[in-house]
Amino acid sequence: MPQFQRQTRLAPANPQAIAEAAACLRAGGLVAMPTETVYGLAADATDERAVAAIYAAKGRPRFNPLIAHVADAAAAGREGRLDDFARRLIEAFWPGPLTIVAPVAATCRVSLLARAGLDTLALRCPDHPVAQALIAAAGVPLAAPSANRSGRLSPTTAAHVAADLDGRVDWILDGGPARRGVESTIVACLGGAPRLLRPGALTSERVEAALGVALDRATPGRAPIAPGQLASHYAPRARLRLGARRLQAGEAALDFAGALADAGAAVRLDLSPSGDLDEAAARLFACLRALDDDGAARIAVAPIPERGLGAAINDRLRRAAAPREDDV
Ligand code: AMP
Ligand code: MG
Repeated sequence: MPQFQRQTRLAPANPQAIAEAAACLRAGGLVAMPTETVYGLAADATDERAVAAIYAAKGRPRFNPLIAHVADAAAAGREGRLDDFARRLIEAFWPGPLTIVAPVAATCRVSLLARAGLDTLALRCPDHPVAQALIAAAGVPLAAPSANRSGRLSPTTAAHVAADLDGRVDWILDGGPARRGVESTIVACLGGAPRLLRPGALTSERVEAALGVALDRATPGRAPIAPGQLASHYAPRARLRLGARRLQAGEAALDFAGALADAGAAVRLDLSPSGDLDEAAARLFACLRALDDDGAARIAVAPIPERGLGAAINDRLRRAAAPREDDV
């Protein structure tokens, strides 16, 4: 389906529309849904292509990890490893505007692209009947950033969403104005004291009262306590050399559209043999991990065009190729 020629259906979020939108999600489509914070742009979080379509529709210049929206605490426990703090917060505030970041569980189905390659993931259960019905009917976690074009304001009405994303999404479910209009509070529960990653609709005072301990607050510029633990982007072990047109001795190849096919690499993975940038985005983190797991010390990366999702792919590759300290 060409990215920006979607027939957008804007409809009141009645049971019929929710059922059709859920079927669309299961088929890899994009649905803007009301939540109590802001409208979210939802896709099947387990489907890398569907998640790539979110970034394309938003015109996001980089791959940030997305929040996976789940039906309840049991669903959260299948995706993430919830410690006692996480369970306490879920008990106190779900459904509601609190996002928990947890290590991925062995049974996690949320795709690498939705997690931006991380071994942690963000989980939220929205307090909105339409979002809840849609998640239940879709039967999968829904990755959903705010339903606006990159760089614009978060939308609190279906009309805001339509102004930004008409023709770029399959459905806009109108559930009236969002009650809160502010994003969720994000707390990381990764061992040790829970850490406030983003202030939001739920006050940190209420979070701390439920936890019984003070939140660790991310201080800008301070190195994470456990190096790498909170780094918000996956960095491959291997060194990357970008824009490669030929190979140097011992390099593995991360190819695009077969540019390095004849270069004689012992190991070569192609992000998209047909040169499709959405497919390349969908495969980016899985390919980087596969080359890392293969033990490559150096990876030559073929040139990636800067158009469409190529900009986000190149941003991620440039940061993976740069020195690591500033990689947050
Ligand atoms: P939004 O795009 O408004 O939905 O924001 C999602 C927020 O969740 C971003 O600030 C992300 O950086 C954050 N986030 C999602 N997953 C993780 C994660 N695994 N670790 C840390 N932050 C995360
Ligand atoms: Mg946003």
